[in-house]
Amino acid sequence: MMGRSHAVSGWCAGLAVAPLIGLTSVAEMVPFAAATAGYALVPDLDHPGASASRLLGPVTRLVSGAVRTFSGVLYNLTKGPRDEDSTGKHRHATHTLAAAIGLGILAASLGDRGKWAVLAVAVTGLLLAADALGDWIIFVALGGAAWSVTGTALPGTTAADAVQAGLSEIGGWIGMAVGLGMFVHCLGDSLTRSGCPWLWPLPIRGETWYELRLPRLFRFSTNSWVERLLIVPALTVAAVLLLPGALPAVEHLFDATSIWIAGR
Ligand SMILES: [Zn+2]
Repeated sequence: MMGRSHAVSGWCAGLAVAPLIGLTSVAEMVPFAAATAGYALVPDLDHPGASASRLLGPVTRLVSGAVRTFSGVLYNLTKGPRDEDSTGKHRHATHTLAAAIGLGILAASLGDRGKWAVLAVAVTGLLLAADALGDWIIFVALGGAAWSVTGTALPGTTAADAVQAGLSEIGGWIGMAVGLGMFVHCLGDSLTRSGCPWLWPLPIRGETWYELRLPRLFRFSTNSWVERLLIVPALTVAAVLLLPGALPAVEHLFDATSIWIAGR
């Protein structure tokens, strides 16, 4: 899947899951969804041309190289008797449920270690999301975070207190955003022809890196017309309709339009 499709599907998953973890207002949901959108791009750090690998120039290129080497080694150490002859670099270690859960837990544990680590993880997610979807997401996410913190602040709170409160709020959900984003990426790649071995290390038909994918009829190639003209527009519509209040507003608009047409 293309970076943009991954980011939009991450945003949609973020909005869908937010109420399940207690984030119910738009102001709380939007920063979470922006983070899941960003982390839905992270698995492709194992591809040198991906936006995650190019984000911070030489720094992320170096990380990408390390991730690719690690993935290749892990592939060779754990591959089953019927796994393909592959370098095991792209679409392997980072494209697993194990990686999503592992990094999610790691990010969740940062909350106890320091607020600045939480901030760094959140900012990384936001930069990745902005790279794929546009800078508007930074303003929307920061606006939402500021709104939800000031909305609950007691009278007399200083700006420093508000930042602390914001960071501890983000610390409460950042692990979920990292894990969910990365897992949604795997699901997205499972829709494409190459599939995604996200159930590693579960052995399936002699493969520990068994590529899960849709039946042949439903698969599409990355950046094909199916992805550009069907998947991306459908995800974009869902991205708006999943916002709280959007669906009732659309229904209301339909009702108003049908009354207007009937009246003519
Ligand atoms: Zn991928």
